[in-house]
Amino acid sequence: MSTSAPGRIEVEVAGAQPYRITIAPGLLDDGAALAAQVRGRQALVLSDDTVAPLYAARVAGALRAARPELSLAHFALPAGESSKTLHWFGRAIDALAALGARRDACVLALGGGVVGDLAGFAAACWMRGIDCVQLPTTLLAMVDSSVGGKTAVDLPQGKNLVGAFHPPRAVLADTGVLRTLPPRELRAGLAEVVKYGAIVDAPFLDWLDAHADALLAMDDDALAAAVARSCAHKAAIVERDPFEHGERALLNFGHTFGHAIETEQGYGGLNHGEAVAVGMVLAARLSETLGLSRPEDGERLRALLTRFGLPVALPAGLDAESLLAHMRLDKKAQAGGLRFIVWERAGRARVLSDVPESTVLAALRS
Ligand code: NAD
Ligand code: MG
Repeated sequence: MSTSAPGRIEVEVAGAQPYRITIAPGLLDDGAALAAQVRGRQALVLSDDTVAPLYAARVAGALRAARPELSLAHFALPAGESSKTLHWFGRAIDALAALGARRDACVLALGGGVVGDLAGFAAACWMRGIDCVQLPTTLLAMVDSSVGGKTAVDLPQGKNLVGAFHPPRAVLADTGVLRTLPPRELRAGLAEVVKYGAIVDAPFLDWLDAHADALLAMDDDALAAAVARSCAHKAAIVERDPFEHGERALLNFGHTFGHAIETEQGYGGLNHGEAVAVGMVLAARLSETLGLSRPEDGERLRALLTRFGLPVALPAGLDAESLLAHMRLDKKAQAGGLRFIVWERAGRARVLSDVPESTVLAALRS
């Protein structure tokens, strides 16, 4: 990874085409920046029906001004996780077929992680792989899903069960679009931002604390800085471990607990970022129970998440045994025992296998 200029991060994974993440307000109106990533003469703007009315015409207008010869098509999914399915994947493929997309066509993924994951998977499959340019519009997509090349759709049996590794051609994160993001979605993204501090960058937690008001007020500079630092961490981890054989698993800090909460609530309670916030507090408590970390670190994490308006305790009515049952089935679990990302202190996380169920229950109940 190299950071050639503020707001620019190059991602270099061995054996794959390197790509650049650019972070700045106004990128969606920058026809030259967009056009520079479209190699051929065909592009499909793939979005959802909330984001498309807000931003698709701007992207199309900027692109057309820069590249009048471009053949441009649009496709929008209904907004929300319930569209991240094989059905809507099929409709996206239909849109590529209707465009007559060739090998050098480009999919522009304009939206949050749902659009990014589905568009990336459609690009991975069309003619065994065409370019996908990620134009993330949620904070979560900017700091997490648009970087790293994981693409997927969900099945009724579980999240992200059908997918592929397909790194983007480029990521252009226009932080200006965060202004229209519902506050709850902003906070969800902040939970993942805090995660980077928790797993690899303790000074970032201090920075986040100092800039919490600016971030919550959607200050452009503060947001761009938080996105850049988060992306730099994600890029560095993905470069060292692109296929999650080791270190990339640290990105799941708080996620084993979080996924169990989301599943137990039937995906209608806490959203992903909120569940991860609670999950990180529980992971800190688990680490403490195992004698790995000090209570002060857990307190500090909890205070920062609270400041960002995120939940830090299990929602009422959730049963510890049921949560444990979900964790046994977690995709990240392996044969032979529960596996968690724990921390030794803020900024220093590691994978721990064979965690006794009794200890997990104790952390859930304390
Ligand atoms: P999302 O894509 O559903 O977006 C959240 C909501 O915000 C949607 O209703 C969307 O229409 C709306 N929205 C998006 N941008 C907006 C804007 N600028 N203004 C107003 N509204 C806007 O959800 P998400 O949180 O971005 O992404 C979650 C998805 O990402 C999940 O499916 C998850 O599995 C996936 N994910 C993937 C990876 C990866 O590595 N591929 C990593 C993390 C998460
Ligand atoms: Mg996550």
